[in-house]
Amino acid sequence: MENTDWKNLPFGYVKTDYNIRCYYRDGKWGELEVTSKDHIDIHIAATCLHYGQQAFEGMKAFMGKDGNIRLFRWQENAKRMVSSAEGIFMAQVPKELFKEAVVKAVLMNRKFMPPHGTGAALYIRPLLLGTGAQVGVKPSNEYMFMVFVTPVGPYFKEGFNPVKIAIVKDSDRAAPLGTGQIKVGGNYAASLRGVMRAIDAGYGSPMYLDAKEKKYIDEIGAANFFGIKNNTYITPKSDSILPSITNMSVMAIAEDMGMKVERRPVALDELESFEETGACGTAAIIAPIGEVHDLETGKTINFCKDGKPGPISEKIYKRLLGIQFGDEEDKFGWTEIIG
Ligand SMILES: *Cc1c(COP(=O)(O)O)cnc(C)c1O
Repeated sequence: MENTDWKNLPFGYVKTDYNIRCYYRDGKWGELEVTSKDHIDIHIAATCLHYGQQAFEGMKAFMGKDGNIRLFRWQENAKRMVSSAEGIFMAQVPKELFKEAVVKAVLMNRKFMPPHGTGAALYIRPLLLGTGAQVGVKPSNEYMFMVFVTPVGPYFKEGFNPVKIAIVKDSDRAAPLGTGQIKVGGNYAASLRGVMRAIDAGYGSPMYLDAKEKKYIDEIGAANFFGIKNNTYITPKSDSILPSITNMSVMAIAEDMGMKVERRPVALDELESFEETGACGTAAIIAPIGEVHDLETGKTINFCKDGKPGPISEKIYKRLLGIQFGDEEDKFGWTEIIG
């Protein structure tokens, strides 16, 4: 990886040397296995293929200036994968097994770890699949858990780039009592109609409203929404939003910076009143929103002046990135050095 242009690495798949697998059979998890193959061999009637019995996680490992590799809040990813498994009746991956697989996947692929200062990181993808052969609709009795890693470049290559968002009202990502709160592939399939609607209209991502009334803001594509006004960080509360670990961390940082934090329903009508808005998730941390356009009414709201992100968003972004890369004091105890 010596001649890699780390700063311009896309957010895509780069083959690494190893990935980790573990199989659940006869009611228990087996030993971790290491492989160099990047294909899997599963039964044609596996429940993940037909009935979407699948869950995943997305996290990153960061190289510090001190040469230490850090994981960020891995316990939260482990917990969330348990709740995803519960949500669609899959075998749960125990926390220690989750950690062991993640650490092994990162350390065995150490040479793919992007150097400090490039803004790039090693993206980690834990994946849980129902692999038992079943034609009737019921939970599988066999599962496969795997972890692969791939180096990813900085989301914003020349600093922040405000994103353009389209409000999509003619499709929903998740229903109020559906699976929006858990990280399963099915939500992503359901989101593609809205994603393509936004992209075809020239926007970066869709803004989903609550499925029932189309009155409240739910999510921005596969990221949580936030708005800032009057020294208050406001993020929607809804049963169909995926609880973002980035958002959870940003809320703690905002509070630590002396801001008020509110988690409550956010009406679309309130959007105009925000001084800054953004989307947050592991990939970008914070993507400032520059423009929101309602595809139905044609109305446009602009946020970033001169194409620049708001000062508070930028401050929060830098603080979180600093903690992740070990450049700033980790007073919250979020990072763990693994090698
Ligand atoms: C993964 C995901 C997020 C972001 O969660 P993080 O833990 O911050 O990466 C937000 N929304 C959806 C729908 C997601 O799948």
